Amino acid sequence: MRETLVVVWWDRLVVGVVVVGGGPAGWALARACARRGHAVTLVAPGHRWHATYGVWADEARLLPPGSRWVTTRVRGGGRVLPREYAVLDNDSVLAACASPGIEVVRARATAMTAGSATLTTGEVRHGMVFDATGARRGEVEQTAYGVIVPEPREAVFMDWRQPTDGPATFLYAIPLPDGRMLLEETSLAREPGLGFDELRDRLHARLGEVTGPVERVRFPVDVPPPPRRARGPIRFGAAAGLVHPATGFSVADAFRLAPVVADTIGRGQRAVRRVIWPWRARLVYQLRMRGLATLLSLTATEHEEFFDLFFALPVRHQRAYLSGRTDVLGTVAAMTALFRAAPAHLRRKMIAS
Ligand SMILES: Cc1cc2nc3c(=O)[nH]c(=O)nc-3n(C[C@H](O)[C@H](O)[C@H](O)COP(=O)(O)OP(=O)(O)OC[C@H]3O[C@@H](n4cnc5c(N)ncnc54)[C@H](O)[C@@H]3O)c2cc1C
Repeated sequence: MRETLVVVWWDRLVVGVVVVGGGPAGWALARACARRGHAVTLVAPGHRWHATYGVWADEARLLPPGSRWVTTRVRGGGRVLPREYAVLDNDSVLAACASPGIEVVRARATAMTAGSATLTTGEVRHGMVFDATGARRGEVEQTAYGVIVPEPREAVFMDWRQPTDGPATFLYAIPLPDGRMLLEETSLAREPGLGFDELRDRLHARLGEVTGPVERVRFPVDVPPPPRRARGPIRFGAAAGLVHPATGFSVADAFRLAPVVADTIGRGQRAVRRVIWPWRARLVYQLRMRGLATLLSLTATEHEEFFDLFFALPVRHQRAYLSGRTDVLGTVAAMTALFRAAPAHLRRKMIAS
């Protein structure tokens, strides 16, 4: 394993970086740092991504060259959405992230500080340590139960028509890069998350008996940003609260942010923490948490109504709310437009939350 490495190279400070966690965020950051000439150690117990990842097609350009994905038009409520959707071929994205500048250590971290990580295989000391070990600290969860079927079907981002009485869930149906289709009954946000048995029963009530390999999804959507004066390892990805509280997405943002972080590393820990969570992002996070609170207050019927209104908004509002992590004005404009379009009973819930 490498020794501490902090050298001045040309006019740039090249720093030794440890990234703990080999999910999308960890690899995005490791690649970006290696491209800037930083010496990177990536600590990852496994070497595959098992989840099915999607991003909006206009965000797929953030992935490294060589990444592959399948693009599709998707329905949201009763309409085809203006933004296309991209489902990632995980192995190709992982291969595209690899770089000779990244030393991969197959281990788990048992402890981390700002400058060192204790691993199951020993200790690694470097200039800066990033914790990209995923989301753990939230309370509101997104859960889903999906079945992979061989035959193609209509692609659906969200179909909120309810298959039976009970908690609100929606169908997410997307093509996979290998030609199969993932059909997933999803509970967007609930505390605690809806159980897999109930999700499976609702999927079968909606589509009949579908059989095939199963994907189970469970992760918190309300992981808060680290405190402004946080110490210790620098959190990144879902571990840093990058998951959108009202959608559960974070993969595109991790790839968007990684090069910015890599560019900032030479300016020290405080600058890096600030660039991950600038005040604009903190403000947008609070607004998105208002959105999450509204969702938690809606009945099953109101979910359908709410998302029909959202997907009827002009694309600039949809993009701002779904993808504008630092876009305060865009997020406010989208929320205002939704409020204006909403009937009185939904407005009351938006105000109360
Ligand atoms: C099944 C599923 C589907 C999802 N689909 C989408 C989607 O379509 N689009 C989207 O944007 N988001 C999606 N999400 C939400 C979120 O974006 C993902 O959770 C995403 O994987 C977060 O990336 P990450 O790298 O921050 O964390 P993770 O992917 O959770 O990666 C963390 C990694 O760190 C490793 N690790 C944990 N502890 C240690 C340790 N102590 N030492 C070393 N390694 C450690 C873990 O093994 C893991 O490999 C999905 C989540 C799940 C669970």
